[in-house]
Amino acid sequence: CGIIGVIALPGKTPYSPGVMVYRGLLRLEYRGYDSAGVASIVGEHVRVLKGKGRIIDLERRIGLSSIEGLTVIGHTRWATHGTPSDRNAHPHIDCSGRIAVIHNGIIQNFRELKKILVEKGHVFRSDTDTEVFPHLVEELYRDTNNLFEAFRKAVEMIDGSYALIMISSIEPDKIFFAKKDSPLIIGLGIGFNILASDIPAILEYTRRIITVRDGWLGYVTPTSIHIEDIRGGVVDWRRYIRVVEW
Ligand code: GLU
Repeated sequence: CGIIGVIALPGKTPYSPGVMVYRGLLRLEYRGYDSAGVASIVGEHVRVLKGKGRIIDLERRIGLSSIEGLTVIGHTRWATHGTPSDRNAHPHIDCSGRIAVIHNGIIQNFRELKKILVEKGHVFRSDTDTEVFPHLVEELYRDTNNLFEAFRKAVEMIDGSYALIMISSIEPDKIFFAKKDSPLIIGLGIGFNILASDIPAILEYTRRIITVRDGWLGYVTPTSIHIEDIRGGVVDWRRYIRVVEW
């Protein structure tokens, strides 16, 4: 199980973000997985390619690395809720098809949340715990009309462990993230930023990293970072940058 996300300005990365995510997924393979998938933003919608099986086979079958876009996320899944299958592979999307989420960990209270969301008319396409998250954000966005606010509220409502990242065509120049009890790092580039489960996945692109702490959430753009702690205070993230020497 692993996650990676790349957000870039045009021409600022050695490969397209899709290829960077694909290469990152190959480097995360050692963590174990049963399925994999990627998502990116194309116009009004998010595009998703995913399935059960090996990354290399999925590449042949559906061309993971050829996904277009400058905001791309990728996931390797180690199933905890819902069998390994194409439809349970991440990313998961909301009803409108504008929000995509990948997640490592377990959302413990997903059954309660799912029940409420189904009553409100949300249609689920998988058996995973993760899928409640994009639907929850969709619902909260309807109330707040502020995507980061909706994301923060959704994070506050879930119990369990997570390294979670979300993209949306509502705000295509951001990757939102939250972390608790599952590893997550930020890799800082020039004209791009990366989120990943671990250092080997990003080392070929940057050595400047921030280890995301439990309770932190925020978003990255190609040229900036915003992090808040559990009490909503803004984190002075520059203090946490370290340069990986190995
Ligand atoms: N609990 C989620 C699922 O079963 C995520 C598993 C993982 O960490 O890969 O889909």
